[in-house]
Amino acid sequence: MEKIKVILTFPKETINKPIICHLNTDYHLISNILRANVMPREVGKMVLELEGEEKDIKDGIKYLESFGVEVIPVSKELRFKEEECISCGACLAVCASQALFMDLESFEVKFDRDLCILCEHCVKACPLRVIEVTFD
Ligand code: SF4
Ligand code: SF4
Repeated sequence: MEKIKVILTFPKETINKPIICHLNTDYHLISNILRANVMPREVGKMVLELEGEEKDIKDGIKYLESFGVEVIPVSKELRFKEEECISCGACLAVCASQALFMDLESFEVKFDRDLCILCEHCVKACPLRVIEVTFD
């Protein structure tokens, strides 16, 4: 099984169509919407995580593109330098997805990559700059 994140840009005319649900029913993909900005009669943006067999992911992307949806793989990652973190907690308030969280046993700030939606709010919030965005 593969897991990728993609940024989708929907043309105005596709906004009301149930495109995403077909990724599940027709392509056997698990889709997880990480971020979305979709308004009626406007171009829509979405960050989507797709999980499934490599061929199904490729076919699902082709299916999206057949509707004029632009699909850009997310090549950036968040690097959390845990050894430099002082667990001050300043980043926790800006992390809406709770990818950064306080471990209540050790009282250390931890990072769950699977929950991160790459909004980058924590990068600016950290006074020690221990969180960075890296690119492939
Ligand atoms: S980029 Fe930072 S603030 Fe945004 S979801 Fe990821 S860990 Fe949380
Ligand atoms: S703001 Fe920076 S130093 Fe403070 S807990 Fe978050 S990552 Fe660690």
